[in-house]
Parts: sequence; structure tokens; C-alpha cells
Amino acid sequence: MSEPQATVLIGEREIASRVREVGAALSRELEQEREAMGLPESDRVQLILVMTGALVFAADLIRAMPVRMEIRPVTFSSYPGTATSSQGLDVIQDVPGDLGGRRVVIVDDILDSGRTLAEIRRRVAKQNPASVRVCVLLRKTKDRDDPVEADLACFDIPDAFVIGCGLDYDGLYRNLPDVRELAESEWKKA
Ligand code: 5GP
Ligand code: MG
Repeated sequence: MSEPQATVLIGEREIASRVREVGAALSRELEQEREAMGLPESDRVQLILVMTGALVFAADLIRAMPVRMEIRPVTFSSYPGTATSSQGLDVIQDVPGDLGGRRVVIVDDILDSGRTLAEIRRRVAKQNPASVRVCVLLRKTKDRDDPVEADLACFDIPDAFVIGCGLDYDGLYRNLPDVRELAESEWKKA
């Protein structure tokens, strides 16, 4: 594979150890919450994976989580509007409709404008789940168009365009093992 012009922001080993740490912390929280809510040990946490970007992060995260869980993928695609009109969101696979009374964790690759995660969170919250958490690999430090907080973020990064670890540019580079900032010369070429 030809390598894109990009600078490594977060290395493979750093990602692996931080994701394990977050998986363990999230699992402890979920277990304490289950006991506090008086839920049985058989209770299943519902993990909403925002495809396709969350795929790589989620694969590592869930293997660091010794928790009874079900994996529920959703697919939303955001498309850019003009500078004056608001951006839209296509729902390709919506959130499942059976989240009432259940503990939900929404997992995504990156919190950027917040539009996607805010919309997914609203759709989940409408069903009156027992709890909702948002967990992301990356959180951009910026003002969001649609305010939504990540309850757990593995890394805070500057407001740059990044690839790797599930994040693509034009469908490519999701398989890079680290997180890289794509050089402006790469996306200006297109
Ligand atoms: P939102 O702007 O709604 O917070 O993010 C929507 C989606 O845009 C993210 O889930 C992610 O797939 C994509 N996205 C946002 N920022 C970046 C970025 O820096 N690089 C890549 N490759 N995708 C991004
Ligand atoms: Mg995404």
C-alpha cells in the first residue's frame, strides 16, 4: 500500500495500552452500576457501534471488557451541506428499538462536530434506557455544532483531519495501525 503523506500523532503501542485501560475502567463502572441498580448478573450491556469508523477501536475495546454484552451496529452517514444550510445525516441502519430499561454504551471513532453522536444519543435516550454512555477513541478539542459529551475518550487531539485505526480518507487507510494527521497536500490533491 502506498503511504499517504501523514504524521503519526498517536503510536500503536500507546493506543493499545490506553484502550485496555479505558476498557477496564468502563467495565468497572458498568459492574458497579449493575449492582447499584439491583440488576441481575445476567444483564447484558448494549454496545452500539457506529460503523464503519468504530470497527477497529471497538474490536480492541470489547476484548478488554469482561462484561456481558451484545454488539448492536448502527450506520449513519453524514454529508456536508453548503456553508449556509445545515448538514444532513442519512440513516442506513438505525438504532435498535429494544433499548428501554437497558444499559447502553455508544462507541465511535471520533467526536468531531458532535452531530452524529448527538443524534444517535437522542434516538437512544427516547427509549428510556437505564443508562447511556458515549465512548470514543478520539475527541477533537473544538466547539461542537451539536453539543454532546463523551463520557470516556481515550485521547484528546487538535482539530486536524486524522486517518488510521478505523478512520478513513475517501474509504482508504482505516487499516493503518496508528493515528496520523493527513497532510493538507493530500486532501487538496483530490
Ligand atoms: P461528527 O462531525 O458528526 O462528530 O463526526 C462524524 C464522523 O465524521 C465521525 O464519526 C468520523 O467517521 C468522521 N470524522 C470526523 N472527523 C474526522 C477526521 O478527522 N478524520 C476522519 N477520517 N473522519 C472524521
Ligand atoms: Mg463515524
